[in-house]
This record gives sequence, structure tokens and C-alpha cells, in this order.
Amino acid sequence: MKKRLLVQGRLDDAQVAELSNLFEVTVLPKSTSLNDPENSALLAETHGIIGSGLPITAELLDSAPNLKAVATISVGYDTIPVDELTKRGIMLCNTPDVLTETTADTGFALIMATARRVVELAELVKSDNWKAGIGPALFGSDVHGKTIGMVGFGRIGQAVAKRGALGFGMKVLYSNASPKPDVEIRLGAERRDLNELLAEADFVCVTVPLTPETERLIGAQEFALMKPSAIFINIARGKVVDEAALIKALENGVIHGAGLDVFEQEPLPASSPLTKMTNVVALPHIGSATHETRHAMAQRAVDNIRLALQGERPISLVNEEAYR
Ligand code: NAP
Repeated sequence: MKKRLLVQGRLDDAQVAELSNLFEVTVLPKSTSLNDPENSALLAETHGIIGSGLPITAELLDSAPNLKAVATISVGYDTIPVDELTKRGIMLCNTPDVLTETTADTGFALIMATARRVVELAELVKSDNWKAGIGPALFGSDVHGKTIGMVGFGRIGQAVAKRGALGFGMKVLYSNASPKPDVEIRLGAERRDLNELLAEADFVCVTVPLTPETERLIGAQEFALMKPSAIFINIARGKVVDEAALIKALENGVIHGAGLDVFEQEPLPASSPLTKMTNVVALPHIGSATHETRHAMAQRAVDNIRLALQGERPISLVNEEAYR
């Protein structure tokens, strides 16, 4: 008998067909949640789940006794209780590497857009308010030659730093759980403790995963350490930052501006002061959102779940113990 697979979103028809050759596939409509009671009978028979932003809870796992693997179409898995999966011998797979460069591009787009006031000034043209050459009140600040401080120096952090160092002649500082001596040599990067980095950097860019240790890692105290001219970039997760403190820091001129792809609450409510600030460039969580990369991420998840349900080691496995 074929194993049963639940698919929630983000696979194209060819990818669903590929899985359907091997498994009994049910594609859940976007409007349905895995937690909906009408899906409980389905869950009870399910061996694999593939999707993005999966609302997995311990209760959901209890109602899926046959579950062997979960494949999230993302590198981050902060919404998934890894320990609960491991305890039950359920593999968790994610999609690192294939989104690294695209997410770093997004980070750099935010750096450029915020420093050079791209959105604000493009709006001036579109709204027919470009009446004369702009003066110093609308000048931006340089990116090249400045200091970028990476908070988190893994795949994406290093890819942003590479753009800064090699493309823009930036000095790279990083704060990270472990040292990265090879990258220090390659990019001339220097490791700092977080507080030193915050005080020295012109651009502070956050790329740590959201974990209990990194939740609200950057708050009022951290903003107070930054230069008044500093630009803060977050392409990690909204909850790594105390958003209320960020808003205050921007309102009070503690820092100069922010480029944000992620927020405490997504979609960002229209009532958020961040939507009104001209010194903020806010994107709708598009770090990896290109045709090529979203396709590659979905394919990685397809390959992961296929291997996991066939008893082989998935390409990107988060909890090795569950496989063993
Ligand atoms: P990664 O390669 O695992 O890098 C994360 C880095 O953070 C690692 O170098 C790790 O240190 C460091 N780190 C972890 N906990 C830390 C702590 N408490 N203090 C200091 N450093 C810490 O992951 P990645 O592929 O670069 O992705 C990073 C995150 O970006 C993801 O988890 C996801 O949340 C986010 N992301 C967002 C988007 C978007 O759409 N905006 C897209 C993709 C990813 P070690 O090297 O010592 O382990």
C-alpha cells in the first residue's frame, strides 16, 4: 500500500505529480489548516507532511501516529516543535543552501534602498512631486566603504557579507555563536562581541535563526548602543527584535533607519507606525521569493520527503536522531 502524504501549498503541478507516482497524495487547499477537525481522519493515516509555515503542534502530532517525516519549504523551522518530533521519531527536513544567495540579495536590496532612500524618492517621482533637483534634506548616505555588522554569520550572513566586502568595499564585523576563521581570511571579517559590533557598525544586519536564545536579542539597550546614523536591517525573523523598541528608536532618532523583511506579526498591520515612517523600508517577507528559488526550495522539500518516506536519509535533515 502506498504511503500517504499531505501537501499544503507551494508545490507546482509537476512536483505534485512526481510525488503522486510514489505516494497517495492529498493537496490541502490554502484555506484549510492542518489543525481543522475535518482533517483529523486524514492526519491519522498520514505518513508525511510537506508545506510552508506548517502549524505543527504536539496535539497535532498526537493525532498523527503514523507520521514519519515533515518537510518544511523553508530554512527556518521556528514554528515547529523539533523536540516533539524527535521524541516521536519523526524526521524534520528543511531547505537550506538553495535560498541563501536570494535571501542575501534581499538583504542587500534593503541596505541599498534604506541608505539611498530609494522607495521614498521613487514615490516622489511617481506622485508628481519632483519639481526641482533635490537638496541635502533628501540626500542619502553611502553604502560603499562603510562598516557592516552581521549579527549571525551562517550561510545567509556570510552571503550578505560577501556582497558588502567584495562588491562595496565594506569592512565586515560579525557576532556569531562560533568563530568563522575561514571567512575572516576570505572577507577580512572581524569577530566582535555583540555590543562592540553594535557600536562600530554603520549597518547592522540580523541573520540569526529565531530560537529561545535569540528571541528579542535586539531591544532598547542594543539600539542605544548603535550610532545615530546606523541603519538596522532584519532579514531573519521579526521576533529576534523587540519591535516596540525598534519603533521608539526610529521615532526618537536613536538610529537613522531600518530595512525590514520580517515582523513580529505578519502580515504587518496597517496600524503599525512602521508603515508610516519614511526612514523605514518594509517588505512583505520576500527573502527567498523569486521564481527560481521558490521552485528550488519546493523541489528540495519534495526530494527530502521522498527520501525520508523511502527510508533513506533526506538531503537536509534537522534532527539526525530521528533518522537513526
Ligand atoms: P545558518 O546557516 O544556520 O546561520 C545561522 C547562524 O546564526 C549560525 O552561524 C549560528 O552560529 C548563528 N547563531 C545561532 N544562534 C545564535 C546565537 N544565539 N547567538 C549568536 N549566533 C547564533 O542559517 P541561515 O541559512 O543563514 O538562515 C538564518 C535564518 O534566516 C533562518 O533561520 C531563517 O529564520 C532566516 N531566513 C529568513 C528568510 C526571509 O525570507 N527573510 C529567508 C531565509 C532564512 P553557528 O555557526 O555557530 O551555528
